[in-house]
Amino acid sequence: MRGIYTSVILIILLNIVGCASVETQFHDVSASEIKKEERIQREMVLNVAEREEIRVLRVAYPIMVANAPLCSKVAHTAGLGFWSEFDFKKDERPFAKRSLFVDENVRVRFVHPNSPAAIGGIQVDDILVVVNGKEIVSGRKGDKTYKNIFKNYKKDSFSAVFKRKNNIYNVELKFDEQCDYKVRYDYRDSEINAWADGKRVVIARGILRFAEDDHTLAGVIAHELAHNVMVHAHKVKHNASVGALAGFVLDRVVIGYADIDDGGIFSEFGKSLGWGAHSVKMEQEADYVGLYFMERAGYDISIMPHFWRKMASENYDKAIGMETSHPTSVKRFIALEKTRAEIAKKKRAGAPLLPNKNNRSFRVIKTDLEYEK
Ligand SMILES: [Zn+2]
Repeated sequence: MRGIYTSVILIILLNIVGCASVETQFHDVSASEIKKEERIQREMVLNVAEREEIRVLRVAYPIMVANAPLCSKVAHTAGLGFWSEFDFKKDERPFAKRSLFVDENVRVRFVHPNSPAAIGGIQVDDILVVVNGKEIVSGRKGDKTYKNIFKNYKKDSFSAVFKRKNNIYNVELKFDEQCDYKVRYDYRDSEINAWADGKRVVIARGILRFAEDDHTLAGVIAHELAHNVMVHAHKVKHNASVGALAGFVLDRVVIGYADIDDGGIFSEFGKSLGWGAHSVKMEQEADYVGLYFMERAGYDISIMPHFWRKMASENYDKAIGMETSHPTSVKRFIALEKTRAEIAKKKRAGAPLLPNKNNRSFRVIKTDLEYEK
């Protein structure tokens, strides 16, 4: 009896093995061909990531500068970035050199439109040779020198000498003020997601691609900046420490914009404990203040309500009817339309473009002279 079973099993196994083999003949691939194609693909990844990151930084720049008067934390910016081959890991460096043209020199990586650097005539690829009288030599030493100079830089201007082909030119740049939050692009995160943690605004690749035009990307960045400026992460941490729910609450609310994607079990849990309602208010505030941030930076706010519809259609079952940690997309759309009308009315009246305070004192947004006008 046992023998029959064994042979049946053997036959089945042979059949499976037989099915798994392939029947057509395909080409051999040599080691050198693999190496060549690997190089092309690695260079492509670097190129695309660079292009997308520069888009995030360029779109964010006017938002960070135009809203500096409302941010309690401000920093200086000249609207340009530098880099060299030493910004890449050793194994990535050969690909970066070929596809991004980085080398041993400290070069201008980007110049934002209308920034002090752009007005000063600086161009991408120009080589930084002197900063505040200090020479920047090519090689690792120069890379360290300029980074040390700009680390914790407190002055509001700098003088520099740049080289473009065989020409040398001098500039004296006065910085702009900007909101002091870092903007980061996460190329490896394909989720339709963005978040703010009180220090940074992080844009994932998924939402970058979803926000196809720059105005909607600006809306995403402005919403996340609003979470930071209104100190939502801090408030959540503070509240969380009372209830020993730190991990969960932090995740839910600190993850900002696109949480409508994961409004499942965690949100239900939060709702039952009363946290859901709390974070809905924060999301509403980030939507409200974010639209002002966008308008002040010169972006077209009229497309944001529709962008929210589009987001809702990505996740219709959770977004449209269920109020979890985020307001429903229906409420969100209506509230954004009302904010848009409020801003338009202020523009027509020539009034300052500032969010309306509620009855309590305004402790977060900087109460500077603009409010007194
Ligand atoms: Zn949010």
